[in-house]
Amino acid sequence: MPPIFNKPTTDKYDLVIIGGGSGGSGFSRRAASYGKKVAVVEMTAHLGGTCVNVGCVPKKANCIYQIMWHAADLREKLMYHASGYKMQGLPEIPKFDWASFKPQRDAYIRKLNGIYHNNFDKEGVEYHRGYGRLKTPKSVEVTLADGQKYTLEADNICIATGGYPTIPSEKEIPGASLGITSDGFFDLEEQPKRVAVVGAGYIAVELAGVFNALGSETHLIIRGETVLRTFDPTLQQVLTPWMEHTGVKIQKSSKVVKVEGEKGKTLTVTLDSGKNIEVDCVLWAIGRHAATQDMGLEKHAVKLDEKGNVVVDEYQNSSVKGITAIGDVQGKALLTPVAIAAGRRLANRLFGPENFKDDKLSYENIPTVVFSHPTIGTVGLTEPQARQKYGDDQIKIYKSSFRALYFSMIEEEHKEPSTYKVICVGPEEKVVGIHIIGMGSDEAMQGFGIAVKMGARKQDLDDTVAIHPTSAEGLFSIP
Ligand code: FAD
Ligand code: NDP
Repeated sequence: MPPIFNKPTTDKYDLVIIGGGSGGSGFSRRAASYGKKVAVVEMTAHLGGTCVNVGCVPKKANCIYQIMWHAADLREKLMYHASGYKMQGLPEIPKFDWASFKPQRDAYIRKLNGIYHNNFDKEGVEYHRGYGRLKTPKSVEVTLADGQKYTLEADNICIATGGYPTIPSEKEIPGASLGITSDGFFDLEEQPKRVAVVGAGYIAVELAGVFNALGSETHLIIRGETVLRTFDPTLQQVLTPWMEHTGVKIQKSSKVVKVEGEKGKTLTVTLDSGKNIEVDCVLWAIGRHAATQDMGLEKHAVKLDEKGNVVVDEYQNSSVKGITAIGDVQGKALLTPVAIAAGRRLANRLFGPENFKDDKLSYENIPTVVFSHPTIGTVGLTEPQARQKYGDDQIKIYKSSFRALYFSMIEEEHKEPSTYKVICVGPEEKVVGIHIIGMGSDEAMQGFGIAVKMGARKQDLDDTVAIHPTSAEGLFSIP
């Protein structure tokens, strides 16, 4: 087991990072690779942050959350698709054994934590396990679990503390604290038979999809008429009815006004319409807020915005010289690869060779995926954003809807929809947005992300010979 540090090993570090998540890891390791003396202050015993411990990993495959998505996807395939492909000997209703899956999943996460720790050790990054607070603009106070404190002096300090799920106060919604968040989802020892997920963004859609596909009675409580209201309208219009079709009970234009009951027993959720829903678990997925409280930031003039995010410029500099911020804590594009890329580029700029002195992450055209059922991939502007930016007469939309070949053998009611949309601008038809939903959209989007980033035109898509037979070929030569 590599060392965990509990005192300074030098009078002055080149860099101290508060937070050992995606951003902190990416930044620290790249800085150390340039021969710099680097310490990371992480308050938990589990390196890797939200993504590894309570975020993306367990859903798909290098992240806890992703593992759950795969479990759900597999059960859906066994339930609804296997018979179409004449698979014999399978139970009619496959049962997911949550209670025995959880320890296996947790063991995998602990392995990942170990890998993060070993990587720190290999690169010479010090892991200080304690709570980090800004003591002065050039020092960080570390408080250990037993209350002992010490100070790390540094020329550069980075805030990479990520964020927390938001939960309504008891004043706003009596009984709100009876609910859990995405963090609590990973602690569930057993699968709730009935669950109410509140929210309409990434996490609400993904977790409602997982619960539903694993067989829980799933209610999704949304304030509007569709899920994913910040995404392109086409995606909202395809996904919302499909989720309902697959059994998610979407309570539209609804707000929770109270939750009653006892944790671990039946909870009654009351909506503003007066409707009551009885469930075993309420999960709040109404957004996240930055972890910037009680860190001495404002005291030392580190400017925060009205939501509590650290305000940074395009080079990740805060309002105080020598203090930077990366990842979720700066409130822009809350995604693992963004935090890592911002950290690595910052290391290049501060500590790398001369040709990296202007390095920074571009926050434009970041591709992203929603692990819904089916998955969504998106990059660039939505149609309303493009129309607003360029004017209606400049916009041309190409759209195609189809069923993936995989579903040709499957009963009509289980054939998932695929819809692809390309948003083009001007006479040269520059592609400014691609939005796709359907099987495989998660994998397909990465390559199209490159095309948009490179400034592809519709003609470039059409000039590319399609790979057949794939779903992704649906994006070429849309008439
Ligand atoms: P974090 O990873 O949150 O790390 C911050 C670290 O700082 C934590 O380890 C915390 O313990 C520590 N810390 C906080 N305060 C202090 C302090 N004062 N002192 C010491 N340590 C402190 N992104 C994707 O790209 N794809 C996905 O599929 C995806 N799925 C997600 C699913 C869920 C349920 C959630 C919640 C998020 C998901 N994300 C996903 C987002 C992704 O997890 C975050 O964008 C990413 O983890 C941000 O990295 P970070 O380094 O900024 O913060
Ligand atoms: P999001 O910001 O994506 O969505 C939260 C949604 O909840 C809002 O869009 C809003 O939708 C709704 N909402 C907000 N306040 C309330 C309220 N008071 N009552 C009811 N509904 C409310 O946040 P998430 O928590 O889902 O995810 C946080 C971030 O984590 C994401 O933005 C994403 O960057 C990242 N993430 C990425 C994933 C991925 O890459 N696949 C997966 C999971 C998370 P409306 O206005 O329609 O009501």
